[in-house]
Amino acid sequence: MKLTVLGYYGGYPYQGHGTTSYLLQEAGFNLLIDCGSNAVNNLSRVLDPMDLDAVIISHYHHDHIADLGVLQYYWQLNSGQKKVPILPIYGHTQDPLNYGSLTLDNVTQGRSYSDLQPLELGPFTIEFLRTVHPVPTYAMKIKTVDKILTYTADTDYFPELVDFAKNSDVLITDSNFASDKTGTKWHMTSTESAKLAKDAQVDSLIMSHLPQEISHEQILKEAKSVKNDGQIYLAKDELQLDI
Ligand SMILES: [Zn+2]
Ligand SMILES: [Zn+2]
Repeated sequence: MKLTVLGYYGGYPYQGHGTTSYLLQEAGFNLLIDCGSNAVNNLSRVLDPMDLDAVIISHYHHDHIADLGVLQYYWQLNSGQKKVPILPIYGHTQDPLNYGSLTLDNVTQGRSYSDLQPLELGPFTIEFLRTVHPVPTYAMKIKTVDKILTYTADTDYFPELVDFAKNSDVLITDSNFASDKTGTKWHMTSTESAKLAKDAQVDSLIMSHLPQEISHEQILKEAKSVKNDGQIYLAKDELQLDI
């Protein structure tokens, strides 16, 4: 698998950098995971958006779907060759209004996933886990024949994540807070992300959904105080990993 980060901020874009979006490529199949702001611009630098095979959305918060509408227009208005006649966009059905917006007649088609059964999508088998977040949100474990990528999506820390992420080759976490965050929260801290990676025995951790007002170096340093082996990456534009 080849993973490319297209956006990595939580909440809102900042100083030219966008919110959550990743491109995952395997065996000629191009999957867009979440579609935050700036995703279409950044995608077009590494892949013709018409070459997407599918899109999958973790939840319908704006920082994960901000560019979905313009991606639909890109597909509607662009005269270039499409890889598939109608672009499938996978989402959960627990928010009917937003699920309905995944379909644009003759352009894109909403398709459902659930945590009750794995989704077979091209070369991927994807399992889902409902996270701890104010709206229904799903973490994804994306497997090929010999590799596993786990993406927490947006979530506070909860223990079931450890089993879900166990033995992944790469783990992408929501690392929106520094370790001193207190009170109610809907995202993980730097140290919770690192503890999750350590407890799940994941070698490579990508800390993403990063904050605007906290130094990313601080986030990284705090994570390294918990997980001192393997690789820890701060997500950034066009960070690419061969998994
Ligand atoms: Zn978010
Ligand atoms: Zn969210």
